Amino acid sequence: MTGTVTLVGAGPGDKGLLTTAGAQAIAQADAVVYDRLVGEDILDLIPPRAEKVPVGKENNHHPVPQHEINDILVRLAREGKNVVRLKGGDCFLFGRGGEECEHLLQNGVPFRVIPGVTSALAAPAFAGIPVTHRDFTSSVHIITAHARAGKPLTIDFDALVRLNVTLVFLMGLTALEQVTDGLLRAGMQSDMPAAVIENGARGTQRKVVCGLSDLSANVRAEGLQSPALIIVGRVCALSDTLDWFTLLPLHGKTIVVTRPKARAGTLAEKLRRRGANVIEAPCIETAQREDTRSIADAFQQPHDWAVFTSPAGIPAAVHTLGKLGRDLRALYGMKIAAIGKGTAAALAAYGLTADLVPTQYDGEHLADALVDVMPQGGSVLLLRAVQGGQILPEKLARAGIRVTDVPLYDTVHRCDKADALRGMLAEGKIDAVTFTSVSTVEGFVEAVGAVEYKGVMACCIGEQTAQAARKYFANVKVAKSATIDDLVACIEEEI
Ligand code: SAH
Repeated sequence: MTGTVTLVGAGPGDKGLLTTAGAQAIAQADAVVYDRLVGEDILDLIPPRAEKVPVGKENNHHPVPQHEINDILVRLAREGKNVVRLKGGDCFLFGRGGEECEHLLQNGVPFRVIPGVTSALAAPAFAGIPVTHRDFTSSVHIITAHARAGKPLTIDFDALVRLNVTLVFLMGLTALEQVTDGLLRAGMQSDMPAAVIENGARGTQRKVVCGLSDLSANVRAEGLQSPALIIVGRVCALSDTLDWFTLLPLHGKTIVVTRPKARAGTLAEKLRRRGANVIEAPCIETAQREDTRSIADAFQQPHDWAVFTSPAGIPAAVHTLGKLGRDLRALYGMKIAAIGKGTAAALAAYGLTADLVPTQYDGEHLADALVDVMPQGGSVLLLRAVQGGQILPEKLARAGIRVTDVPLYDTVHRCDKADALRGMLAEGKIDAVTFTSVSTVEGFVEAVGAVEYKGVMACCIGEQTAQAARKYFANVKVAKSATIDDLVACIEEEI
C-alpha cells in the first residue's frame, strides 16, 4: 500500500518552535527527507530506524534538484513508507511545498501538511520587532529577494514604497544592496528604520538595526551571513526597546551538553530558556550486559536497600531480571534509594517510590544519607554501571554496611557529533562544556581527541566529576550543590 507524505514545517531552527503535530509526525516516520535549514536538534528527533535523506545544499555541494526531490518522495511513499518532508520555517512559504503537493497528487500519493512557524515572523519576534503595530502599520508583506544568478531582482519597489507597510525580505542577503537601493530609488526615506536578522530565533542570532541607507554597509561590516532576512518599516524602531532575547543571561554563549540523550533534556532546556546556543552532544551511552549470573546470585541473598545511581539503572534492572524470568518484584521487601531527582522520576515511571534521595546528587552524599538511616550490619544491593565509582561502596563498607555491587550495564563512550565538536573547538566557538559524571568527561575527551580545548570552561556536577575534568581543562567550575539548577546557576555566574 502507498504510504503518506507529510509536509512538516520545522520552524526557524530551535526545537522548541517545532509544533507538537510536527514532532509526532517525525516520531512516526519511516523516512525523513529534509532541507539544509532544519535545526540539528530537530534532526535528532528522527527515530534511528527511519531512513534519513538530506536534500539541501551544504558546504558547496549542490542541492538535489526539485524534480529529484519530487521523485524521491513518490518512490519512498510507493515503498509503503510514512514519509516526512521536513522543511525550514513554514512549508508553504517559499519552500516549494505547493509544487511537491502537486506532484504527489499527480502520482496518486496521499499527503497532508503540518504548517510551521515561519522565520519571517519568528526572527522579528526574537529581535523585538512586532511586524504590525497600531501606531505604525496594519499590514506586513513577505517578499522573496532571490535573484537568478546575474539577473536583477524583479520586485516592484514603487508599489511596495507606496503601500507604506512592514516589508520582510527572505533569501535577500546577497541582494541586500539591490533591495535597499531599489527602495531608496522608489522614494523611501533614507532614515526608514530597517534591520537584518541572522540566525533568527536561534541561540546564535545576530541583528543589525539602523536607517535604511546605512543598512548594507553596517551589515557587511558586521559580517552577517545566511540564513538572514531583511525587515524594513517603522516597526524596526521598536527593536531595542522591545528586545528581550539578547538580554537573556546566556545569550550569545554556546554550551555543550554531554549527558546521554535520554537525560540531556532538562539541562538543555534550562540553558536554552536562558538564551544559550545549546549543542546536545551525548558522549556516553548505556549498553545492557548480557551476563546475568552476578545479578541472579545477588538476588538470592536478602538485602535491606536497593540503590540506584542513575535513571539508566531501572530499565537495565528490568531488562536483566526479565532475562532471568523475573521482574521488579525481586525488589520486594527492600527499601529503595535513588541518587537524585532524575533517578527517582525513573523509578516513579515504574510505579516505585524512592524512600531516600540525598540533598545533593552524588555518590558521597548518597553514602552519607544511607549511613544515617541504616544500622551497622545492614545490607545494600547496588544496581549500577560496571564503571561506577568507588566512593559509594567504600564509604558504606567503612560504616559496616555489607555491599553487593551488581554490574548491570556498561557506560560506553560514544559521540555522534565528534567531528562537529572538534571543528567548533578549533574555531573557538564553544564557551562551555557541561559534565554531569566522570564518564561524560572521559567520553568527551575521547571523542574530540587532540584539539585544543583546555581554555574552554568545564562546568561540572560533583567534585569527582570536577577532578576528572581538571586532568584535561584549565578552567573547571563546580556547581554549588550536585543539582541541575545549581549547575545552571554556576554557568550563569562564571561564564
Ligand atoms: N519556508 C521558510 C523560508 C524558506 S526560504 C520559512 O518559512 O521560514 C529561506 C530563507 O528564509 C533564507 O534565505 C532566509 O532569508 C530565511 N530564513 C530561514 N531561516 C531563518 C532564520 N532562522 N533566521 C533568519 N532568516 C531565516
